[in-house]
Amino acid sequence: MLFHKIEEVRAKVSDWKKQGLTVGLVPTMGALHAGHLSLIKKAKETCDKVVVSDFVNPIQFGPSEDFDKYPRTLNADEKLCDEAGVDIIFAPSADEMYGEGQRLSNDILTYVCPPFFYVNTLCGKSRTGHFDGVCTVVLKLFNIVQPDYAFFGQKDAQQVIIVRKMVNDLNVPVKIVQCPIVREDSGLALSSRNKYLTDEGKKDALALSSILNNIKSCYNKGIKDVNALKETAYSFLTDKHDMEYLEIVDKNTLEDKKTADDDSIALIACRVEGVRLIDNIYLKEGE
Ligand code: AMP
Repeated sequence: MLFHKIEEVRAKVSDWKKQGLTVGLVPTMGALHAGHLSLIKKAKETCDKVVVSDFVNPIQFGPSEDFDKYPRTLNADEKLCDEAGVDIIFAPSADEMYGEGQRLSNDILTYVCPPFFYVNTLCGKSRTGHFDGVCTVVLKLFNIVQPDYAFFGQKDAQQVIIVRKMVNDLNVPVKIVQCPIVREDSGLALSSRNKYLTDEGKKDALALSSILNNIKSCYNKGIKDVNALKETAYSFLTDKHDMEYLEIVDKNTLEDKKTADDDSIALIACRVEGVRLIDNIYLKEGE
């Protein structure tokens, strides 16, 4: 079922709850690919009913970001969701989510603003306000759908940590489930933004996963010094790579480390052909 209205979703979910069924939510911005489908699969395994939200959220994009050109493929998304056994696709308009004609600034809208440390490190350094926009829309979706479980990808590891923090701090009654990163055979992490890349760009984009895999293997061979691990990246970089950050931090708290350990995660953001790509890897062997 494709719903555009909040009230339609509420009514259907309320029916389900009366029958004692559990509900899972998979928040997405559409342009669905196998990464999203892995979240849907996990949701289907965990819950009786699955809702996928399909909404390109304007308030998580900065003024110079790709909101207007972000791929919108609702018909194809609907087909994939039907095949995957999704019960509701919720694809609201921005007016439905934020009120008609509402100016999307925080002098009008109540925003969820996680603590400075979480939102101003890593991706937050270059994307001011991004995680406030993410948390605001995610909390709204939680209030609309009232899911028992919500499913997020490790692909956006910082996002999952921040959403967990919000849920914990605000006592939101939902369980957050993180799902592993789905990659192409080449190693490239699937992303809706890969659509912007040429074939050549896709090859250059492999540097991200190569850098991360190499850091992991160096760590597991005994190199623990974070600076030494980060320096191993240089051999993969060319003038096609515009590196934004490469950090090794605590996988639960995002705190910096001087010495890597089994709780470390390496995260990278890099532009290729002007497309901002992110990826990450846990350093512990087997994770
Ligand atoms: P997006 O539509 O990009 O906002 O992503 C919606 C959800 O899908 C987020 O929780 C992402 O982390 C997750 N996701 C995106 N790409 C992947 C991937 N390659 N593997 C697993 N999950 C992903």
